[in-house]
Amino acid sequence: MIPNEKEILVTRASMPSYEEFIAEIKPIWETAWMTNMGEFHDRLKDQLKEYLKAENLLLFVNGHMALEMALQAMNLTGEVITTPFSFASTTHAIIRNNLTPVFCDIREDDYTIDADQIEALITDKTTAILPVHVYGNVCDVDKIESIAKKHNLKVIYDAAHAFGVEVNHRGIGTYGDASMFSFHATKVYNTIEGGAVTFKDPSLEILLNYLKNFGITGKESVEYIGGNAKMNEFQAAMGICNLRHVEDNIEKRRLVTERYREHLQGVSGIRLNAIKQGISQNYAYFPVSFDGFELTRNQVYDLLASHKIFARKYFYPLITDFECYRERFSDLELPCARRAADSVLTLPLYADLPLEDVDRICEIILSAAKKGKQSV
Ligand SMILES: *Cc1c(COP(=O)(O)O)cnc(C)c1O
Repeated sequence: MIPNEKEILVTRASMPSYEEFIAEIKPIWETAWMTNMGEFHDRLKDQLKEYLKAENLLLFVNGHMALEMALQAMNLTGEVITTPFSFASTTHAIIRNNLTPVFCDIREDDYTIDADQIEALITDKTTAILPVHVYGNVCDVDKIESIAKKHNLKVIYDAAHAFGVEVNHRGIGTYGDASMFSFHATKVYNTIEGGAVTFKDPSLEILLNYLKNFGITGKESVEYIGGNAKMNEFQAAMGICNLRHVEDNIEKRRLVTERYREHLQGVSGIRLNAIKQGISQNYAYFPVSFDGFELTRNQVYDLLASHKIFARKYFYPLITDFECYRERFSDLELPCARRAADSVLTLPLYADLPLEDVDRICEIILSAAKKGKQSV
């Protein structure tokens, strides 16, 4: 460990200034209305609907509960086709709805579900597809839509990483039957914890509103087995503040991303995230695949850690290899997902990461590789 080096974490939450947030929440002391769909909640809901260009949108206490309840509202049975290369939440939401996940491999270039392999996994029990716009990369939405249409399946996107992403100026949340967004502190846009579901069928709004409030439908009636997943007023106030700055933050993330690309593009054994035409990105993550590089992914991770730079093996292990799932799923053949889990490192990326830090991170990686070569 080299002394006096500054610690750099993989991410740092975006916050408004202390003064801005305090001014925002002050009125709550007048009303004492802290949760249960208050004024801030409703204001943020309208603002996000507009920002995300969504037809219908509801807020939730966090992204995971939003996803669980979106699945519950669809009234699904049987099997759901999904990806193993995601955060635990994606598969947990399927299993916690008493559904069976069926894992499809991913594409090598952008790590999203390989739509060409979906149809072979469809059985008479399949009722839905749950793909992930991983790292903010857009899934093959058109192919997925045509498969879903042909086989009469619902499509629910895990769009936790895809806040603000657009395809030819169309909001990412308008694809499929529903999409879940996460507003966790570590995401591009946050409400401390929080989430939303955007959805196509407006009649789902009533049901989802019931589900997130215990299934209570009236003063003396409870018609659904819901949970508690309401976004509170402090979360919503943070969201209102952060929404004022999100465009600036995404622009800063773009500059950080470009700086990384300047250093790492074209280096042998390093593969960067593929960029598609017509997509406005949110620069949520900077995944780098070390495959055939002088150092393995794990060696790069350890090297950076020795300089107090903490990258993340995101996603490792694969969901199918989790202790709670490995007995059921670890024998599946998922070669691209496995390779990604073993080769990808997400490098530090957040709005206020100084570009000089990006230079230093890249220099450490590239100079170690040079040394490695000389010693061979
Ligand atoms: C963050 C995340 C979630 C869960 O969101 P929370 O708001 O933390 O509950 C789900 N899926 C993916 C891919 C995520 O990264």
